[in-house]
Amino acid sequence: MERKFIKGIDASPGIAIGKVFLYQESELTIIQESNRTVEEEKQRLIHGQEKTKEQLEAIKEKTLLTLGKDKADIFDGHITLLEDEDLLEEINDLLEEGNISAEFALKTQIEEYCKMLSNLEDPYLRERAADLQDIGKRWLYNVANVTIVDLSSLPANTIIVAKDLTPSDTAQVDLQNVLAFVTEIGGKTAHSSIMARSLELPAVVGTGNICSLAKNEEIIIVDALTGDIILNPSQEELEIYKSKQEHFLQEKEMLKELKNKAAISKDGVEVGVWCNIGSPKDVKGVLNNGGQGIGLYRTEFLFMNNDRFPTEEEQFEAYKEVAMALEGKPVTIRTMDIGGDKSLPYMELPKEENPFLGWRAIRVCLDRTEILETQFKALLRASAFGYIKIMLPMIMDITEIRRARKLLEKCKAELKEKGIAFDENIQLGIMVETPAVAFRAKYFAKEVDFFSIGTNDLTQYTLAVDRGNENISHLYNTYNPAVLQAIQASIEGAHEAGISISMCGEFAGDEKATALLFGMGLDAFSMSAISVPRIKQNILNIDRASAKAFVDEVMNCATTEEVLAKVEEFYSKLKK
Ligand code: PEP
Ligand code: MG
Repeated sequence: MERKFIKGIDASPGIAIGKVFLYQESELTIIQESNRTVEEEKQRLIHGQEKTKEQLEAIKEKTLLTLGKDKADIFDGHITLLEDEDLLEEINDLLEEGNISAEFALKTQIEEYCKMLSNLEDPYLRERAADLQDIGKRWLYNVANVTIVDLSSLPANTIIVAKDLTPSDTAQVDLQNVLAFVTEIGGKTAHSSIMARSLELPAVVGTGNICSLAKNEEIIIVDALTGDIILNPSQEELEIYKSKQEHFLQEKEMLKELKNKAAISKDGVEVGVWCNIGSPKDVKGVLNNGGQGIGLYRTEFLFMNNDRFPTEEEQFEAYKEVAMALEGKPVTIRTMDIGGDKSLPYMELPKEENPFLGWRAIRVCLDRTEILETQFKALLRASAFGYIKIMLPMIMDITEIRRARKLLEKCKAELKEKGIAFDENIQLGIMVETPAVAFRAKYFAKEVDFFSIGTNDLTQYTLAVDRGNENISHLYNTYNPAVLQAIQASIEGAHEAGISISMCGEFAGDEKATALLFGMGLDAFSMSAISVPRIKQNILNIDRASAKAFVDEVMNCATTEEVLAKVEEFYSKLKK
């Protein structure tokens, strides 16, 4: 077998050696006409239905063991939908007309039902449309005899190689057996990369055409420190990478010695070093790495890994679990940020030309206020169990804050009337992700309790460069002087209005950015848990005066290249 070397982008650090599992979503082409008899088509339909039921029962069993009865019960609902007699009758009626394939009749009728359900008033019934879509897809694949890939049960020592992985694919990955993943597209700030970092799962993205080069079961080395991939490595390479892996793990252990240390600069200025999480499961990593709080809890994964909107109770449980585990340390929870590259299987989002500029995040929540109100109530109730702060994403206009605050006040009043406890002084803050906020930071700051800079989006919106488009990934750079100026303006505006400002975009965890951000006056850094020890160490090694002088030099640079050269120069001097 031929050795192949592929270069990609290091998206989540670590080194893994394992076997390739090529993940490809199976393609299904549906042909309307049939050359079978009506009876044969009906048989295919029933056979697919039975197979689907078997699979759903198996998933239910597995869910019962891993996630408990509540989640497992969801699949009973799915089976009921699958066996809906009216639905089957209507598909059969279509088949009776003759000359139609079972796949076509099934797809047509499912679509019809979904449309009907999603137009209903009752939110519970509306949400069933997504269930039906999901079941319909499985049923369809089973009629056509096309296998559905299940990422949650893969053999040991697997390395997933895929064109792309969605955040929900990533969430499904079985961490017992999967050692790493490699994708053809995507960048460091794609949400699946971010999730890989919080799962501490090594990942390399942007590898071009790896799916056509790799074969199932081949040995693969993933160096997610450099972005290097080797297929069918030599014995010598295997030895080299095994020792590189050991070294990486040792260093990781060593840095953990900083776990209980505060991040105080040489001249005594302390900053917060917080973590970004996507679910309560990530809290373990935060505590192990010495995170001093949560600067960003991306709640949309709670919405995405579900087949319907999570209830107030389910949300409350998740938020409470995190708040309690953090024992009084700040827990900044962001309201649902759906849209852009994050979709919900059960919520129809419009097809948009520019989803990142479209119906996303706070825009969705202010149109569908019931979603935001449910989330606010769950957050408020959980605030009685720890130090919760609420954060709104994608703000670009002050009226958005005012409308959200009004809803929050309404939720507070409701809880109060019912005698339910919550933190009356709960803080409301916003993400700084649009130039609209950065340029007018002082005015926005007067309306909220805190800011957190989301550089992943701030970079794409300042530069007009899509964060997930690999064709222009060379243009996406947070060190671009315009982005740095937007960051600086946000920090100055926040301080002028007397509020604190942190950063939860990926730039906060960039080791080469610490001095710049510290020099600009950032109050707290929030990042993937694995980056915490290094950023703490960086702060311990600098002082404000030299960091400020460095900022002045950098802000006089005309191009990104000049900035990067200055940054390199600064760090090489520091190392000496
Ligand atoms: C950001 O935009 O920097 C951010 C932290 O939000 P997300 O990556 O979830 O869009
Ligand atoms: Mg964002």
